[in-house]
Amino acid sequence: SKVPPIILNNGVEMPSLGFGVWQVPDDEAERAVSTALEAGYRSIDTAAIYGNEKGTGRAVEAAGLPREDIFVTTKLWNGDQGYDATLRAFDASLEKLGLDHVDLYLIHWPLPARDTYVDTYKAFEKLYADGRARAIGVSNFLPQHLERLIGETSVIPAVNQIELHPHLQQHALRELHAQQGIATEAWSPLGQGKGLLEVPAIVAIAQKHNRTPAQIVLRWHLQLGNVVIPKSVTPSRIKENIDVFDFSLDTEDLAAISALNEDRRIGPDPATFDVG
Ligand code: NAD
Repeated sequence: SKVPPIILNNGVEMPSLGFGVWQVPDDEAERAVSTALEAGYRSIDTAAIYGNEKGTGRAVEAAGLPREDIFVTTKLWNGDQGYDATLRAFDASLEKLGLDHVDLYLIHWPLPARDTYVDTYKAFEKLYADGRARAIGVSNFLPQHLERLIGETSVIPAVNQIELHPHLQQHALRELHAQQGIATEAWSPLGQGKGLLEVPAIVAIAQKHNRTPAQIVLRWHLQLGNVVIPKSVTPSRIKENIDVFDFSLDTEDLAAISALNEDRRIGPDPATFDVG
């Protein structure tokens, strides 16, 4: 594949760039994931709550690639937290995906008020020990949630998938991840395309490299060491977003983008988000 891997803390290789399918209806997901696989993507990021595990699984099967060449991530939805419910929800996800294992299973949100993420993660440890998830991790965990989890369980999460883009650079979490050997995976890496891709500093760097603003932002993430999972259903953009491995930003470009941080979220605050 044209996408270089990162090595997770258990030795498993994960493509540094994958394809996200949030908000893509199940029937469209099959087409979009097929387009992505044809374009060279080998990592797909879905979730039980996205409602498109079936379409994703159909596209993976239709591609006819060796299973070990595709990295599939799915996530446990909030209402299924707790030890037994997690094991049942995992079975349901595998069934919809049509797979016998996933490459990465994530707790979608920490839901701190419910206080169930430690028990939930103990079920994840069982799925990992049984070889049904090649790696386990979390999403939207704040430093205090990671620290508690690491203190009370035995497998350090391989990944924390968090909202991360030039307007929300997550310095504290990235530092903690580096200390603990947790890979940082950026969700909404393009800031959902809203405004970020028109920021003059990014447009100027795009012109300088004869690239698009989306390619510049993805390149910034990759050079920082983040895993990215941009989403698009438009074939030309799907191709554009993976075509980022034949150029580099220089230190001046990186500094100009790093200066855009505003600690501004698009999505919910994990400290209080509690639906589903
Ligand atoms: P994104 O930052 O990937 O932006 C996607 C949007 O940007 C597209 O819908 C399109 O409008 C625009 N876009 C994409 N490529 C473009 C291009 N080349 N040029 C111009 N515009 C372009 O946002 P996202 O979908 O929110 O995040 C990506 C993935 O992250 C999701 O699909 C999902 O898999 C994951 N995610 C996870 C969580 C979580 O809680 N764990 C939350 C949100 C998203």
